[in-house]
Amino acid sequence: MLVAESQASLLIAYAPLTWDYLAAGSYYLIPVALALLLHQWLSEHRPLLMGWLWKFHLMFAVAALGLALVGAVDLSSTFPVFDGLLLVSLLLMAGSAGVRFKRLYLEQQALLLSCALLAGFLVADMAVAHGFIPWAPVPVSWGALAFSLAVVSISVWHYGRTQKALQELTVDLEQKVAERTERAETMVQREVARSRLLALESSKGQKLAGVIAGLQDCFTLDQAFDLLLSALPVLYLPTDGCFYRLTKAGQYERVLSWGRVTEQAFPLVMDGHVSLLEPTTVPVRHQSVPEQLCFYLRVEPDNNGDRPAGVLLLSRPELAEGLAEYGTARIVAWVHQSVEKMGITLSGLVLREQLQRFSYEDGLTGLKNRRHFDEFFRHEREVSLRTGSPLSLLMLDIDHFKVFNDDHGHEAGDEALKMVGDMLGQYFRGSDTVCRYGGEEFAVLMPGAPLDEARLRAEALCTAVANTPMIYQGKALSALTISAGVACWPESSADFDELFRAADQALYRAKNAGRNRVVATSV
Ligand code: GH3
Ligand code: MG
Ligand code: MG
Repeated sequence: MLVAESQASLLIAYAPLTWDYLAAGSYYLIPVALALLLHQWLSEHRPLLMGWLWKFHLMFAVAALGLALVGAVDLSSTFPVFDGLLLVSLLLMAGSAGVRFKRLYLEQQALLLSCALLAGFLVADMAVAHGFIPWAPVPVSWGALAFSLAVVSISVWHYGRTQKALQELTVDLEQKVAERTERAETMVQREVARSRLLALESSKGQKLAGVIAGLQDCFTLDQAFDLLLSALPVLYLPTDGCFYRLTKAGQYERVLSWGRVTEQAFPLVMDGHVSLLEPTTVPVRHQSVPEQLCFYLRVEPDNNGDRPAGVLLLSRPELAEGLAEYGTARIVAWVHQSVEKMGITLSGLVLREQLQRFSYEDGLTGLKNRRHFDEFFRHEREVSLRTGSPLSLLMLDIDHFKVFNDDHGHEAGDEALKMVGDMLGQYFRGSDTVCRYGGEEFAVLMPGAPLDEARLRAEALCTAVANTPMIYQGKALSALTISAGVACWPESSADFDELFRAADQALYRAKNAGRNRVVATSV
């Protein structure tokens, strides 16, 4: 409109009619643009009215210009109609905008004010054109210019603001990227430490499997402990530690230490010698772990009462920042498990040892059983045959034991059997084999002992038993007596197969002769 209405337009293109149409078109489109703008801004308030206004004016512009172009009407005759419509529209728009003016943004307000200025000029121009006020030049173009300037200033201001926001956003983004990079680096470091920990766990797991297999191959508990002590540092390094073992005297003795553990550090008992350290439990989330970790090695079918057979003390593992809590809990859990596994393996070993012992031992008296005796007899028989050294066999039987049982009860009878068993154990040499042959009958094999020596030993035993009252539940019961039959190879029988029968016969004779005595058979 600004260009079309100025005389300079003819310099651009000398087409006065076209410029007139352009000026009229841009003039007619002013309310369209204004109504569209307000339609956007006042969408919550009268959207229908504004929508209707811009559509109406658009139709008017198209119709007026179209009709003028085809020559149906004169272009100048459309101006008064438009002016009337414009005036009404401007009033409607001013009313709507005025009501919502305070709620609009500053730049919207500025734009509206410039619109109002332009509209004012337009109305004044109309008033002049229609002769309502005396003729005077109305600077409508200046109003349009002011409006355009307002639009440009707002755009520039917007541009500035956008640039600033972009700059701030860039700084913010850069900061966020830096933070994320740092976090990612920390995570990478933690992952590296974690994978190192996993690798350590896996290698220690393999070592533990080896140790367990080694322990299973041991024959005795002592042998297993020797192996265990050599394996502990290998299993738990780089963590420093030491190991205490419960001695037969019931004391805990430090049998091993490794790393930086000194004599004074890592005492097993606190507050003097009152009680053992509490075993460390696997820490749960955010729970602190003590400097010194303690694990009990329990070997179950042992007669230590409730006391652990060994105690392992370890220093708290030193782990990388960020992995300390998670890693320490994992390590404590692993050590816990490993000690548990070793305890179970040792328990199995003790059980095996016990079962093995029971297969050769009599459970009540602790003497060897008949199975062992028979094996030992076969062995000693071969030795005697090869070396020619004598071999004496004693068969002993408690006299009237049925009566004793009847008088005092079966449990008292068991106690008496134990006491006689103990005395038998004491009366013979380590090289002799004493066994409970069955019921209240005992057999003794004396390698290298001639008949007389065996008889004397048996007589001494008979006398001792007869003079020892049986004690049951703190009460002295009557003393028991025993009878014994003694036979010796080669004095009693040149045939080994006859030796048992000879000893049995001698015992039978001792019983018949009045009991509490010894009969030795000689050929
Ligand atoms: P004798 O002097 O002729 O040997 O007479 P006895 O009563 O000792 O012999 P007998 O063979 O008649 O009885 C043996 C008794 O020993 C019968 C049985 O109850 C008892 N006895 C065998 N084994 C045990 C045991 O383990 N505990 C107890 N309390 N008694 C047993
Ligand atoms: Mg008997
Ligand atoms: Mg008997």
